[in-house]
Amino acid sequence: MNNELKKLIGKLEADRKLSREEYLFLLNNRNPESTEYLFERARTIKHGIYDHDIYMRGLIEFTNYCKNDCYYCGIRKSSTGTDRYRLTKEQILECCATGYELGFRTFVLQGGEDPYYTDDRIVDIVHAIKENYPDCAITLSAGEKDRESYQAYFDAGAERYLLRHETANDEHYRKLHPEELTLSRRKQCLFDLKQIGYQVGCGFMVGSPYQTNECLVDDLLFINELQPQMVGIGPFIPHCDTPFAEQPAGTIELTLFLLGLIRLMIPNVLLPATTALGTIDPMGREQGVLAGANVVMPNLSPINVREKYMLYDNKICTGDEAAECRACIHGRMEEIGYNLIVSRGDCKQ
Ligand code: SAH
Repeated sequence: MNNELKKLIGKLEADRKLSREEYLFLLNNRNPESTEYLFERARTIKHGIYDHDIYMRGLIEFTNYCKNDCYYCGIRKSSTGTDRYRLTKEQILECCATGYELGFRTFVLQGGEDPYYTDDRIVDIVHAIKENYPDCAITLSAGEKDRESYQAYFDAGAERYLLRHETANDEHYRKLHPEELTLSRRKQCLFDLKQIGYQVGCGFMVGSPYQTNECLVDDLLFINELQPQMVGIGPFIPHCDTPFAEQPAGTIELTLFLLGLIRLMIPNVLLPATTALGTIDPMGREQGVLAGANVVMPNLSPINVREKYMLYDNKICTGDEAAECRACIHGRMEEIGYNLIVSRGDCKQ
């Protein structure tokens, strides 16, 4: 068995893709020995491109209003327990100022799909950040928009966009989202973003309700098709105020295995060890890096709104100042032999 697993891992490393059957075989039969081998290969590939550098992104959660009602998400429209907030342009710029001081050279603006932030407002915010911090990259993560809107943000200076596809299996997509949201539209957005010239990030939750290994294979095949520069994955974690409140969380084990696979599929991918990974295990982000991740995303949101951007229960770092988060993650990376560096952290060729 182990030889067969190792052969497939070797094939993935050489060809950067496997067939549906081969991916499924790996997922169904993985064991500690083949997993350790996978992580060792993933680290070697990562070190060849990025050495022991870890890029950091300053996450600014600019609104928790959302017009969507995704069943898993703590800030969904129907989540009545959520105390809603929006950051002003000035507040966002203050987050950037704090972040810049701390060595952040990428700012990620993430939020619910909030119609208050019209294209004009987003363009204005992007312009202002670009003007003040011309040496920084701006990443947007604000959901599904028309192609013209994405183009306008790009023209204003946003270079990266994160839009997790959530699941590449149609049937599974239907079980996670209300009817008005569709996988085909989600995918179209990703292809639009790519065509415009953004560095694009897709991704999914590991262990979301009703997910099977077959669904995960669809996710891997979609990643092979899209060839994104970034892939965001983290465990699903239930939120008490959603229809999935009673569902079990995803496991760290499967999340790490998938991180390793994705590093082999796209050697230069920017792959975060996510906050959700740090939430289900106190050493989750360290283990993520050791499985192939090379990005961390500490929180730069103002302290008084942190607790309100609760995508899932028990989210970590909601009480810490940006400087504390930065120092903490710096120490954690050093501890495992990696360097948190001051850089825009673009995708290397
Ligand atoms: N509105 C934006 C940002 C969504 S929040 C968008 O549509 O892209 C960022 C990510 O958090 C989501 O894409 C989702 O994958 C993840 N997320 C949401 N709820 C979660 C939960 N309960 N557990 C783990 N991750 C969750």
